[in-house]
Amino acid sequence: MFLRKVEISGFKSFADRTVFDFAPGDAGAIRQLGITAIVGPNGSGKSNVADAIRWAIGEQSSKNLRGKKSEDVIFGGTAKRGKVGSASVTLHFENHDHRIPIEYEEVSIRRKLHRSGESEFLINGAKVRLLDIVDLLAKSGIGKDSYCVITQGMSDAVLNATASERRSIFEDAAGVKQYQIQKERALRKLASTRENLARVDTLLIEIEPHLKMLRRQAERALQGKDVAARLLSRQLELYGFLWHSFQGERGGLSQERENLARASGMLERETDTLREEVATLTGTLEDGGQQDALSQDANRFRDELNTVEREAAIMSGRIEAERERQKDREEIRTIPVDLGYIRKALDVIRTNQNTLFDRLGLVEKLEDIQDIREFARAIGQELVDLDVKVEAGKVTEKVIISLPENEKRESDARLSTYVAEKEALGKRSEAIRILITEKETALTAEREKGREARERYFRIERQVREKDRELSSAKDRLNDVKVRLARVEVREEDLINEVREELRTDVRELTWDGESRDRDTLTRDIIRLKGEVERIGAIDPLIAEEYGETDKRFTFLSTESADLRSAMLSLETVIKEMDERIENEFSSAFGEIAKKFEHYFALIFNGGKAELIRTKPKSRRIVGTDEDSDIPEEDAAAEAPGIEIFACPPGKKITNLSALSGGERSLTSLALLFAIISHNPPPFAVLDEVEAALDEANSKRFSKVLSELSERTQFIVISHNRETMRQAGLLYGVTMGDDGSSQVLSLRIGDVESLSHDPGGNKAG
Ligand code: ATP
Repeated sequence: MFLRKVEISGFKSFADRTVFDFAPGDAGAIRQLGITAIVGPNGSGKSNVADAIRWAIGEQSSKNLRGKKSEDVIFGGTAKRGKVGSASVTLHFENHDHRIPIEYEEVSIRRKLHRSGESEFLINGAKVRLLDIVDLLAKSGIGKDSYCVITQGMSDAVLNATASERRSIFEDAAGVKQYQIQKERALRKLASTRENLARVDTLLIEIEPHLKMLRRQAERALQGKDVAARLLSRQLELYGFLWHSFQGERGGLSQERENLARASGMLERETDTLREEVATLTGTLEDGGQQDALSQDANRFRDELNTVEREAAIMSGRIEAERERQKDREEIRTIPVDLGYIRKALDVIRTNQNTLFDRLGLVEKLEDIQDIREFARAIGQELVDLDVKVEAGKVTEKVIISLPENEKRESDARLSTYVAEKEALGKRSEAIRILITEKETALTAEREKGREARERYFRIERQVREKDRELSSAKDRLNDVKVRLARVEVREEDLINEVREELRTDVRELTWDGESRDRDTLTRDIIRLKGEVERIGAIDPLIAEEYGETDKRFTFLSTESADLRSAMLSLETVIKEMDERIENEFSSAFGEIAKKFEHYFALIFNGGKAELIRTKPKSRRIVGTDEDSDIPEEDAAAEAPGIEIFACPPGKKITNLSALSGGERSLTSLALLFAIISHNPPPFAVLDEVEAALDEANSKRFSKVLSELSERTQFIVISHNRETMRQAGLLYGVTMGDDGSSQVLSLRIGDVESLSHDPGGNKAG
C-alpha cells in the first residue's frame, strides 16, 4: 500500500487543482521512487502540501494547520486573484495488500470544506463521517498524530516534550493509538452511559412510588371489576330466576283463582238449592196431632181391656169356686191294721213283683236295667212301709163326702151364669185387643213417617252446613289466592324497578336456565358483594390505562437501566482489555524503539551513547479498603509511565538534553524519529524540512538512513537539502506564481535547475 497521488484544490496557496503523483506511469516504480522530494523557494507553498495531507487524514486543529480557524485552509485570494469557495484534498492510495482494510485496491480519501462551514468526507466517492476516515486510516497505521507528517518543530518537540507527552508520541509509534482511540471511545461511551444510567435511575426513582400507587389502584380497579362482574352474574342469576318463578307463581295462582271462583259459584248454587229443600222439609216435620190422637185411643182401649180382663178373672174365680164347691170332699181317717189290709197290700206287692219279672225278661239295653232297679227299690220300699205300719198297728185312709142336691142345683145355676158372663167378657176382650193393635200399627206407621221426614231434614240441613263450610273455605282460599297474587304482582313490580335501576335493563329480557336457585344464599351473596363494591369505591377507569403505560415505561426504563449497567460492564471490560493491550504492545514496542534509538543515534553521531528510559507511573494510595493497595490513577496522563531520553554524543559527557547543541538536538530527535519509524513503519511519511539544521556531513548520514528506511516507508520529503534531494527518485518543484498561488513542476534530479517539465498534468508556473 502506498500514497499514489495527492490532489489539492483551493487549499491554502493551491488555488488551482494541483496533482502530486508519486508513482507516475508504473505503480511498481514506487520501490525505486521510495523518496519524493518537494522543493522550491521559501514561501512557495511546500509546507502547504504537508498541511493538505495532514488535513485530509483528519487533522482538526487549526493551530496544527498553522491557521486560526478552520476556513483558513481555503485559498483566501491575493492581490491578483480572488478567493475560492471551497478547499478540497484527495489522497489516492494503492491498496493491493489491503492494508487499508476494505475490499478496494484503489482507495481515495477526500475531504472538502466550504466557506459556509459545511464539510464533506468521502471514501471512494461515498459520503462518510470524519470518524470513519480516521478509523479506517488508523487501522493501516496512518493518523494525524502518527508519524505520517513530521515537521521540524515536531521532531524538536519530541525532545522538548514532557515525559507523558513523549509517552503519547511513543504510543503512536507503538501502534496502540487505535486501541487508545477505542479506549477513549469506550471511556466517552462509559461516561455518557453513566450519565444515561443516572438519568434513567433518577426517572425510575421518580416513577416507582407513583407506579406503586397506580398498581394498588389498578389492582383495586381490577378487584372491583371482578367483584362487580360476580355481583352482576349473581344478580342476573337471582333476578332471572325470580322473574321466571314469579311468572310461574302468578300463572299458577291465576289458574287457582279461576278454579276457586268457579268452585265457589258452584257451591253457592248448591247451597241455595239445599236451603230451599230444607225450607220445604220444615213443613213436613209437623203431623197435626195425629200421633197423639192415635196414642190416646190406644191407651183408652188398653184401659178398657184391663177392666174386661179383670172382670173375666173374677168370673173365672167365681166359676172355680163354684166348681170347688160341687167337688166330693176327701177326708183322712185312722183305722187299725188287720189281716185283710195286710193281704191287700201284699197282693199289690206281688202284682208289682210279677211285673218286675216280666220287665226283666224284656231287658234290651242298660237304661232298662236302671229303670228296673228303681222299680225293684220301690217294691222294697213298699215292703218296708208295710212293716212300719204293721209295727205301729194302725194306718190312715181317705173318705169321700158329696154336696147335697139342692145346693148342687143352685150352684149349677150360678155356674152357668158365670160361664156365660165369662164368655161374653172373653169376646169383648178379643175385640178390644184388635182395636189396640190397629191403633198401635197406625201410630207406628205415623211415627215412622215422622222419623223419615226428620232424618231427611237433618241430612239436608247437615249437607247445607257442609256446603256452607266448603263454600266459606273456598272463599277463604280464594281470598288467600287473591292476596298472594297481589303480593306476587307487587314483587314483580318491585323486581322490574330494581332491575331497571341496578342493571339498567328490562327484567323481561333476563333468561333462566330452568334450574332452581337458593334464593337466600344468592341474596346474601349479592348483599355481601354490594358491600365489597362499596368498600372498594369508585375508581377512575383511566387508572388501569395509566398504570399500563407507566408500568410499560417503568419496565422499559428498568430494562434500559439493566442494559446500561451491562453495557457499562462490557465497556469497562473493553477498557481493561485495551489497557492491557496498550500496555503489552507499548512495552514491547518501547523495548524495540529504545534499541533502534541507540542504533540510529550511534549511526547518525558516528558513535556516542543514547538511551530511552521508562519512568514509573505515579500512584495514589487508597485508604479504607481491606488492604491498602496501590491503584493506578484513572487519569491516563497521571497513570502512564513517562519516558526519559538520555543522549550523549561521542567524546562528550552530557547528562542533560538541554546541554546539547541545536544540531545535536536535531540529530538526536531524528535518531528517535527514525527509531520510531523503523519500528512501526508507516505506509508513508511526509518530512517537512526536518533536516534543515544539519551540516553537510550529518545531512549525508541522515539521507543514508532515510534511504535505508525508504525500503519500507514511502517518504515525501520537503527539503532544501541537496543530499536529501539526491536520494529522491522523484522531485516536485513548487513555485509561487504571479497571482500568489502555488504552482508545481515535476522534476528529475538533473532537472532541478531547469523546472521546465510538468509530468503530473499541473499547470507550469
Ligand atoms: P519555507 O521554505 O520558507 O518554509 P514554504 O514553501 O514551505 O516556505 P509555505 O509555508 O508552504 O511555504 O507557504 C506559505 C505561503 O502560503 C504564504 O505565502 C502564504 O501567504 C500562503 N498561504 C497560506 N495560507 C493561504 C491561504 N489561505 N490563501 C492564500 N495563500 C495562503
